Amino acid sequence: MTQPVFRFAPSPNGELHLGHAYSALLNAQMAEKAGGRLLLRIEDIDTARCTPEFEAGIYRDLEWLGIAWEKPVRRQSEHFEQYARLLDRLVEAELVYPAFMSRGETRAHITQTEERGRAWPRDPDGVPLYPGLDKTLGTAERRRRMAAGEPFAWRLDMAAAAAALRAPLTWIEFADADMTSTRVVDARPDQWGDVVLARRDVATSYHLSVVADDALQGVTHVVRGLDLFQATGVHRLLQMLLGLSEPVYFHHRLILGSDGRKLSKSLRDSGIDALRSSGRTPDDVKRMVGL
Ligand code: GLU
Repeated sequence: MTQPVFRFAPSPNGELHLGHAYSALLNAQMAEKAGGRLLLRIEDIDTARCTPEFEAGIYRDLEWLGIAWEKPVRRQSEHFEQYARLLDRLVEAELVYPAFMSRGETRAHITQTEERGRAWPRDPDGVPLYPGLDKTLGTAERRRRMAAGEPFAWRLDMAAAAAALRAPLTWIEFADADMTSTRVVDARPDQWGDVVLARRDVATSYHLSVVADDALQGVTHVVRGLDLFQATGVHRLLQMLLGLSEPVYFHHRLILGSDGRKLSKSLRDSGIDALRSSGRTPDDVKRMVGL
């Protein structure tokens, strides 16, 4: 049997907080239990919001927590060309299309439809689905607009992608962090509509780069927060379309703030750096997150 490979994949666009500490510590604990390896991946495709200072903060905080990871660390911003090659395959297969509608046009279309009394579908995060009117553009018109330099994003044609699958789409989810039992979850990527796979300013997307890297790095166990549970449907779809390997998943509970809401990167008091400065120890942090 091959050795299990786990990963912790933070984005350096803010300080690590208790939620990240829980995710990283749980990954380390589960990797140890499974006799596996732990990788750290820096998810910095959004080069406008990610900074070297936040990245340095990640290393400092993880080290302080006593977490060891393998080096070299994979930095997504160094691999845009690999993601572009995967996207090319989807372009060739006509499973993605150039989406030209701006945010304003999209909003106007949705508002007009809702004013006529029809509810517009929303994704699991509450964001209205993309109207996808440009799917009907002919090849010549698409080429003309692209050649003219009109801004567009590559979006997955969800209906075409779903039709390209032969078998029902599922994933395997551990019942708990003990990893002794699993269940099969029905993947519902259609809930997300025509997701963006690459933008003009960022030539990839979270969905595309995460499945690319999990496969390239041989990740077998994806342990991450429950907020990404439904996104796994999109990941499984991309894995199937691109012939990428399928990890087993465990989506852990989220650490909530005292107001019962998800922690955000601007919440100073739950930041690891702030906790350390206030004299807390790594063991205190473990206790705070229930480990
Ligand atoms: N980079 C993502 C985040 O910071 C996590 C990605 C993942 O674990 O799949 O929320």
